[in-house]
Amino acid sequence: MSENLNPFTIAQAQLDEAAAVLQLDPDMHAFLREPMREYHFTIPVKMDDGHTRTFRGFRVQYNDACGPAKGGVRFHPDETIDTVRALAAWMTWKTAVADVPLGGGKGGVICNPRELSQGELERLSRGYMRVIARNIGPTRDVPAPDVNTNPQIMAWMLDEYETIVGRHEPGVITGKPLILGGSAGRSPATALGGLFTVREAAKLLGIELRGATCAIQGYGNVGSFAHKLAEEMFGVKVVAVSDEFGGVYNADGLSAAAMFDQMRRAGRVPGFADAEPISNSDLLELPVDVLIPAAIEHQLTGQNAANIKARIVAELANGPTTPEADAIMYDKGIYIIPDFLCNSGGVTVSYFEMVQNSYQFYWDETMVHKRLDEKMTIAFHAVARMAESKGVNTRVAAYLVAVNRVAEAVRMRGWV
Ligand code: NAD
Repeated sequence: MSENLNPFTIAQAQLDEAAAVLQLDPDMHAFLREPMREYHFTIPVKMDDGHTRTFRGFRVQYNDACGPAKGGVRFHPDETIDTVRALAAWMTWKTAVADVPLGGGKGGVICNPRELSQGELERLSRGYMRVIARNIGPTRDVPAPDVNTNPQIMAWMLDEYETIVGRHEPGVITGKPLILGGSAGRSPATALGGLFTVREAAKLLGIELRGATCAIQGYGNVGSFAHKLAEEMFGVKVVAVSDEFGGVYNADGLSAAAMFDQMRRAGRVPGFADAEPISNSDLLELPVDVLIPAAIEHQLTGQNAANIKARIVAELANGPTTPEADAIMYDKGIYIIPDFLCNSGGVTVSYFEMVQNSYQFYWDETMVHKRLDEKMTIAFHAVARMAESKGVNTRVAAYLVAVNRVAEAVRMRGWV
């Protein structure tokens, strides 16, 4: 039978498993299984040819017991409310495991940004903010960039919000351009945060990272920074990388600088000189110390999990592993750093951005990354300790840490 890959069903099933281990009160469990609030709306946009096109948008505030909801806005033709719900749930667990005083949210618009002119994209971004402005804010819900949205779109949304409320309010949105109150060190934050957790996992497993081998699937913001930083900061030998067009492999290691040059010239990984081609599926099955899925969801499945040979799988992508693959890989003794722990460096630095906005005083990149290291290291060990003490795998352990924290906040507020 094929696996049920509805993302919200998966998110709920993962919570159910954690709730069973925690023997969570059934009333609390029922409350945490559903989003607290969701907004479904239309966004009318004047198109360049003079007609008005109506887009559908969503914002889900899954849970804000620990602080304002936090999560990106995606622009995607296949966006669904269940995807947004699932991602908002994962943001709730992510901010909780990262131990930042925020809740979880997510937004989306059904659209294909590649078919929009810059002017149409700006009007859509401002339209999204116009509809949702009354329901968000620095102390309520703070959006950020996500799939197909970027600092420019955040700048338009910020400007629209500030026009509506009539004052500067940089903390309403993160991932802003630096000139408008963005944080230094945000671009590499997700990859760097993940590598701090890889460093800690390697220590636990007695793996020497210097010279260890690594394969990275996905060469966008996260994958390319993971390559550069793994090589520069940790002396890791990255032997294979890929993107949607295919991959390359060299047992002696691929230079990040040369690969960045390739991306600048060709805009894609295949064609890189001094390496053999490798398919995405073969890359995942390489006998490396560290495998980093940094592309899209559902890459490690019931079909290929038995062939995965990496010792550590660091899930920088969201949802790269299906539940069936999870069970197989844990059985094989693979150390998985689950996505909402591994890639929480991005939201941690977004939280730093909000902190800096609130006191209008900005840190340099060294300070941002030092504080990121502290937060990621603490978060990793909270999960590792939980896995050890409860005898559960690291994904369940991450849920236990996160659900415990959110449930405590809900209980202290007297909601359940
Ligand atoms: P991106 O769009 O910059 O890059 C995605 C990369 O994946 C591209 O190189 C693309 O070619 C590649 N790709 C797409 N489909 C593929 C396929 N079928 N096989 C192999 N490669 C494929 O995105 P990003 O910001 O680097 O994000 C990557 C992952 O990390 C996503 O799952 C995202 O949700 C997650 N993530 C990103 C951040 C962040 O701060 N950017 C934070 C948390 C999680």
